[in-house]
This record gives sequence, C-alpha cells and structure tokens, in this order.
Amino acid sequence: MLRGTKKDVVAQIQKLSGEMKSLATFIGKNPELAFQELKAQAKLTHFLKKHGFKIKRGVGGIQTSFLATMSRGQGPKIGFLAEYDALPGIGHACGHNLIGVASCAAAIALAKGMMNFSGTISVVGCPAEEGGGGKVILAKKGIFHKFDCAMMAHPDCKTEVIKKMLALIEIDIEFFGRASHAAAEPEKGVSALNAAVNSYQEILKMSKMLSLDSRVHGIFTDGGSKPNIIPPHAALKYYVRALDMDYARATIGKIKKIALKEAKKIGAKVKFALNPLAYEPFHPNAALANIFKRQLKFLNVKNEQGSETERIGSSDVGNVGQVVPTIHPSIKICDHAFCHTLDFAKAALAPGGFKGMIQAASALALTGYDIFSNPAQLKKMKMEFRQRKNNRMFKKPFSGGRMFKKTQMLGARGGATEAYLSGTSKESR
Ligand SMILES: [Zn+2]
Repeated sequence: MLRGTKKDVVAQIQKLSGEMKSLATFIGKNPELAFQELKAQAKLTHFLKKHGFKIKRGVGGIQTSFLATMSRGQGPKIGFLAEYDALPGIGHACGHNLIGVASCAAAIALAKGMMNFSGTISVVGCPAEEGGGGKVILAKKGIFHKFDCAMMAHPDCKTEVIKKMLALIEIDIEFFGRASHAAAEPEKGVSALNAAVNSYQEILKMSKMLSLDSRVHGIFTDGGSKPNIIPPHAALKYYVRALDMDYARATIGKIKKIALKEAKKIGAKVKFALNPLAYEPFHPNAALANIFKRQLKFLNVKNEQGSETERIGSSDVGNVGQVVPTIHPSIKICDHAFCHTLDFAKAALAPGGFKGMIQAASALALTGYDIFSNPAQLKKMKMEFRQRKNNRMFKKPFSGGRMFKKTQMLGARGGATEAYLSGTSKESR
C-alpha cells in the first residue's frame, strides 16, 4: 500500500518553494560558465544532502558534476537531470538556474511525498550544457546507463512536452597557402583566403540542396592579417545539424569534398578538425512524455504543444536519449522572450521564472510518482526505446575518431592532414 498521494508530493514542492526561489536567485545572480560551476554545484548538493540524498561530486571525471542518490530497495531507477551553467556575457539567459533547482526539488519532493517508494531516485548534476557537452562526456562514462528513464524540464516561452532536437557536429577547416607581397610579387603567393571564400560559396550552394531539417552554418575564423600580404592561412568553422546523425555525417563529407576541391584548384592545402563531442539528435520518449503530459493536466498547466520540429536547436540531452528513455519538455516562464537573450535572463529571475520552476518541479516529481505507482509503464517506454534504437538513425552513435578514418585528408600538395579538437565550445539548443 502506497503512503503519500500526488497531492502530498505537490505539497512538498510548496514547502520547498522558498528554498527553491532563493537557490535559483543565488545561481541566477552568480552565473558560472561551463565546467566552472563550483558555486552552483555546492548549493545544489547541499540542498540535496540536507534532505537526505547521498552525494558524489565530480562523477565522470568532471569536477563540477555530481550524482545524488536515494535508494530504497528494488524498483524503478529514475534520473532527474540538473543543468546549472550560464552563458558568456548574458548570464543565465537559458534559465539553467531554474533547471538545476527544479530537478533537485523534484527528487526531494518525490522522496518525501512518497514515503515508501521502492526503487532509486537520482539527480545527475550535468555541467557545461552551453559549452563543452557535459552530458556527452557523462554518457560516455556510463553515468546514465543505470537509469530506467531520465528527465528534465527546460524554461521557454511556451509549454510543450515533445520537441525534437538536431544532431550537431562541429568542423574546423583550415587552408594553407603561401605568403607573398600582394603588390610586388602577387604571382608568388597562394591565397588561402581565396580557397576559403570559394569553399564558403560552394558550401552555401550545396546547403540549399539539403533536406529541410538540416542546417549548415559557417563563419570565417581567419581571413588573413593585412591586405598587402597574400594570406598564407584562412579558416572556416561550421556547425552541421540534422535530425539524423548519418545525414549530418554525410553532409560533413560533402563539405570536406568541396574544401579539398577548392584548395586543390589553387594549390593550397587543407586540414580538417572535428569536435569529437558531437550532439546526438534528440527524440523524446513518447511513452514517458505521455506520463508527463498527464501531470501537467493534473496541475492545470496548459500544454501548448505545437510542431515537434519547429524552432528547434541542439542539446547534449540527445546523448542521454541514446542511452535511456528521456524527456526534455519546455515550461513557459515568459510570453515572448526566447532563450539566449537578455530578456530571457531577466525572466529567469522574475516571478514568471519561479512559477515555471515550481510547475516544472511538480510535474517532474509527479511523473516519478506515476512511475513508482505503476512500474509496468516502464515496459512501454523501453519497448519504444528499443524500437527507435533499431531505426537507422540510432544504429551508429557518433564517434568523431571513427568518422574520417577511411578517408585520408589529402592536401593539394600531398600532405595528409587530419586532427580532432577536444573540448571546444558547443552551442546549445
Ligand atoms: Zn538551455
């Protein structure tokens, strides 16, 4: 016989609301960038410890991560995901101060409101969502494997339960030419910039022929130093996104081909560097999402579900979704501001932000309640997960190191060049 009702769980969130607000305010006013989130880690782990959770800091080899656990025998293993990193210059403009607190409070309220649950409630402190792919690293280290399911909620300007996200691969392309005096001896130079400009234009043309759910966006990161020097070096950086990782990989292949061809035309060399921390596409688990939806209804929170693929970006939660059934619903905290803006940072510290955080924590805790009350629901989630795994797009998890092994990168002058960046910045959403 279960002790504790859904109302008891919600009452626990209400009890915690004062503490939640002050924690979210502290983290919001003390923004810390990716992998530097020591204050947020200290605050959130203190909050969980105070309420009876066992804490391990620095899991998966990341100093600012944590794993908080409360275990009571056999049963479902539920993982709540906490994010708490900020953006450079604009602070908590993605509202991660609310996410971290909501996930921790959900775990605490679930444990307190449902006194005799059987199973394990965990919170994973996931650093560096905005720069470095913390969950990509944690997933590789096996941190999520032990869960039956994982969940978090993200602040937004609309409440929507199902939103897909795009795979994201980052590639740097460097061109090497030969410097010469641009006025006196231009004929002796090889302009790396020309190769980069021509490549950029050809890649732009190619990108217009891709499937509608693909995105290719590039910038120049080096275009020479002085007009009177024929640039010996130029560089481009691209983000390649798609709903299908294989498609994103194939697009990277096309980009490479173009750059090689353009470099060869003028006698330049080219070098590619892939960020191995690629974001997998995110496909929310529908069975788990349905449980979450029911809780929104219970809480009288309006679900404004629109298209699953409209206004989408990328997130390292995609890599968690490759390991266990996962959801990442959006909870409205303001009317118009979109994340990564100063207005959104303000909303994440305003009453609307706190209201959304309470709703998110309540719905997450109640989703856990539903699963503990009826663990048979896990079967449906897992079946859906396995079926998706068998789909083409989930067959081969991305591995930066493997991607180019078969294709040797040959510069026009014959030098094989290939390198992989480690831990370069990664965009979120
Ligand atoms: Zn975010």
